[in-house]
Amino acid sequence: MTQTQPSIESSTRSQIYKQTMSHTTVPVDLGDRSYLVHIGQDLLTQAGQLIATGLPALGRRTTLLTDSNVGPLYAETTAASLRDAGFTVDTVTVPAGEASKSMACAEDACRQMIRAGHDRGSSLIALGGGVVGDLGGFVASIFFRGIPYLQIPTTIVSQVDSSVGGKTGVNAPEGKNLIGAFHQPQMVIADIGALQTLPQREYNEGFAEIIKHAAIRDASLLDTVDALDSRDPQKLTPLIQRNVEIKARVVAEDERETAGVRALLNFGHTIGHAIESTAGYGKYLHGEAISLGLAAATDISVRHFGLPQADAARILASLEKFDLPLQLDHQLAESSILEALAHDKKFEAGDIRFVIVDRLGSARVTSEVGLAEIRAAIGALRTTA
Ligand code: NAD
Ligand code: MG
Repeated sequence: MTQTQPSIESSTRSQIYKQTMSHTTVPVDLGDRSYLVHIGQDLLTQAGQLIATGLPALGRRTTLLTDSNVGPLYAETTAASLRDAGFTVDTVTVPAGEASKSMACAEDACRQMIRAGHDRGSSLIALGGGVVGDLGGFVASIFFRGIPYLQIPTTIVSQVDSSVGGKTGVNAPEGKNLIGAFHQPQMVIADIGALQTLPQREYNEGFAEIIKHAAIRDASLLDTVDALDSRDPQKLTPLIQRNVEIKARVVAEDERETAGVRALLNFGHTIGHAIESTAGYGKYLHGEAISLGLAAATDISVRHFGLPQADAARILASLEKFDLPLQLDHQLAESSILEALAHDKKFEAGDIRFVIVDRLGSARVTSEVGLAEIRAAIGALRTTA
């Protein structure tokens, strides 16, 4: 018998196929901890289906962890998609902001999950920016001694950086990210459409990490960044994809930052972190402090490691394009920044592992940068145009 009409079942299947083929995936190769990063539009509505298909062994009880900004925008869409795919979903919402990356918040989330009846057969899905991702990953690493978790990142920072790589954790009053665990997610779903609602300042700060990726690994990425003129998802999708590929490759080469490769991702971060903590958390967003750190590390790279001036100018111009700071606030004393640096354990031990770029797209770690070079570069941040 010849079939002239496709059955409902097969047309539904081809519809599903089209939907799932309409986005791109990047693998993170980590042996038995490997996972896929799905990148595209309208993925929140497909989250349940992507997870049910991609992770058939995952328990069907899950906690959707989100924050007070992202929850009202996207939690219901995501939860509905999960329920349609057969998941039972409880939602835990933490206040938006860095303060939620705390032991108190982690404990509170665990207790809410226990009271809702979750156990080692449950999973956790972190829906939000890097704060929710880091907190959610950490909660998943300790809940019942570890449950599977997934990331649904909704900021540029979390899509290109924090959702991939398995670094999870919370802050201690003594410092950022001091309590945590390596715990890789089982899947990452980056919905580019979610970036449309990101406030401009938070959108811009994400480009500090993107420009960092270009500087250390992929010079041509700067062309793409420079050509970007809007939040057009068609243009953002390949950009996010390339950044995820860079991060995934670095993580695959050096999962636990023991081989020196993952340390390259700290380009701009030594001085950037010192500025961030000196200014007091809240003055500069992380990406803004990193922009200053990138400018200083670029300056050091030109003066001492042969980075061509033209390459340096391109890095600075790209940062400027996203209104990221290149000049240090005059209120910030150089001595306080140096003091913050000196408190860095690695500095105390005399083991300064500083990342420099010797040409656009190529970085290395060196021990030849001392406090004198760093002081000069911070001084130059007051005069950079
Ligand atoms: P964030 O999670 O605080 O998000 C920034 C702000 O945007 C928040 O107010 C949030 O509620 C809001 N928001 C998020 N998505 C939104 C959306 N789609 N629409 C509207 N508002 C939205 O900050 P972040 O920049 O995403 O992440 C920063 C955190 O990530 C820091 O704690 C940092 O330490 C961590 N981080 C971790 C890694 C890692 O490897 N684990 C890497 C980089 C950064
Ligand atoms: Mg960073």
